[in-house]
Amino acid sequence: MPVIDGDDQDFRSVLATSDRRGRRRWLHVHLTGGVWRRRRAILSTALIGFLLWAPFWTMNGHPFARIDIPGKTVWAAGTPFHAQDLPYLLPLALILIIGTALMVALVGRFFCGWLCPHSVFLEQVFRPLERLIQGSSSRRKAEEAKPTSAGRARVAVTWVAYGIAAGAIANALTALFIGTHAFVAGLVVDPVNHPTAAVFWLVSWVVMLFNFAWFREQTCTIVCPYGRLQTVMLDPHALVVGYDPRRGEPRGKGADRTGKGDCVDCRLCVDVCPTGIDIRNGNQLECIHCTACIDACDGVMAKVKKPAGLIAFTSEVALGGGQRRTLRPRTILYGTVMVALTAIFVVFLTRRPDLHLGVERNPVTPTAIDQDGTALVRQALTVAMTSGSGQDLAVTLSLPDLPDARLITQTTTQPVAAGARSVVTVLVDAPRAAVGSHLRTRLVASWAGGSREAPVILRGP
Ligand code: SF4
Ligand code: SF4
Repeated sequence: MPVIDGDDQDFRSVLATSDRRGRRRWLHVHLTGGVWRRRRAILSTALIGFLLWAPFWTMNGHPFARIDIPGKTVWAAGTPFHAQDLPYLLPLALILIIGTALMVALVGRFFCGWLCPHSVFLEQVFRPLERLIQGSSSRRKAEEAKPTSAGRARVAVTWVAYGIAAGAIANALTALFIGTHAFVAGLVVDPVNHPTAAVFWLVSWVVMLFNFAWFREQTCTIVCPYGRLQTVMLDPHALVVGYDPRRGEPRGKGADRTGKGDCVDCRLCVDVCPTGIDIRNGNQLECIHCTACIDACDGVMAKVKKPAGLIAFTSEVALGGGQRRTLRPRTILYGTVMVALTAIFVVFLTRRPDLHLGVERNPVTPTAIDQDGTALVRQALTVAMTSGSGQDLAVTLSLPDLPDARLITQTTTQPVAAGARSVVTVLVDAPRAAVGSHLRTRLVASWAGGSREAPVILRGP
């Protein structure tokens, strides 16, 4: 078979962004205005502000958003969550899974085009920067075909702008994963002595620059598994961006519309598509439901004095002439499960303890001691306390079932900082008669406003 490059390729087996040999076809996406573009711009501005700001925001002195991998702690809204909280977070994981299925059943791949940080930054920051500095898509295409020195200079300026934008994202990622204190120390005050933040920032910056400035839509079309997962969850009643062939075909150019449909074959819907596809070929895996083609086609329809909606946010059922149903067994089931899971999650959150307590007996053999004529057995316990609260706690340890036992610790109360883990060694002197060969009892940790207990086994000498 001869190798065919260009527009006559098979859209089901060859990506719009590559030729049959697999070579990249660079997209010069035409940016268009319109009602959907304005809606996306409002949502994207809010999202970009949140994503760049949240890692630097503090609530009651604690991170609003932080993923502390070495500390095995995730901070959300100033509250720490540790590995011990996983059972409490199980309903949240199920909410995310069922919520995704519900969102796809209702609004298709809305997440991909409107909420995914990759789409938001690419379509609302990087492509507009390119357009601002290098000009319209036709000018960029002309420059690609016949490069000029002025054009090369504009490309260089664009890459500087990309570098600044990628730097802002790298800032947020560094604060999210390394923390704001390390961010300031490693990037502002003393990078030489705090290399972790500086190295993390540099790696993030390179990855962001590579992704947004060069790799671009290929992240959606060949890397992201989530897009494929969403696509297989679509059903004929789910909202999709769709072209109405009954109205548009047979397509054709020219003022004489005799025997032709409404599609004037201007290809503007293809020119504005950030993944380079032709939506007139039907729903495709690469479509991220960004709605840019709706704006483009509505503008064309206005010019040719035809009603808007040749390409619309619609459903396969509606495109076939049927009635789309929002309420159907699938959406009712998902919605009911979501409500139940949300209620369970709220109950779990309210019951989440402020302190996780773990007790281990020290492997050293307990020793018999005699104190003022009383036979005692001495052994060491290792007590691990992890704060699940946004407050610093002053914890007092006790063995309430053994009133004659004495707990020896370095300090009377044990400080457990908010979100932190504290491990202390406690010496226990307990009456030998009470302990015998071994005694199952409980250790209680109390603090102002709460207490927590853990089982403990004391051994005889
Ligand atoms: S923008 Fe509308 S009229 Fe133009 S090619 Fe696409 S579907 Fe046809
Ligand atoms: S086909 Fe339309 S909605 Fe889908 S990605 Fe392209 S422009 Fe966006």
